[in-house]
Amino acid sequence: MARFQCLTCNAVETVTASEPQSCARCGGPVFDLDRYMTTRAEAAIIGAQNDAFRKALAPVEWQGQTLRGRVVVTRGIRDMGPEVESDPSQTIRVLTLCLPDEY
Ligand SMILES: [Zn+2]
Repeated sequence: MARFQCLTCNAVETVTASEPQSCARCGGPVFDLDRYMTTRAEAAIIGAQNDAFRKALAPVEWQGQTLRGRVVVTRGIRDMGPEVESDPSQTIRVLTLCLPDEY
């Protein structure tokens, strides 16, 4: 069973067999609502994990698990000078300024 939502009228249709090609109500295009919601939920988790790691810049505990990551210093950060690149608090500030909240 899967749910599909219409991009035109927002109607949600639950189907058990094949994927609908268009909205049963208005004929508009549809998308897989369950896949969309799963992707959004996964993106929110990944964003929260990234935020936790970015604040620590080292392995960090997050909801009962240890997050490990890799800090990548881009050319843009390096070009800001050695004091920015070598001081994690400066790097965090730069990253926070460069990344939107939903990243
Ligand atoms: Zn529709």
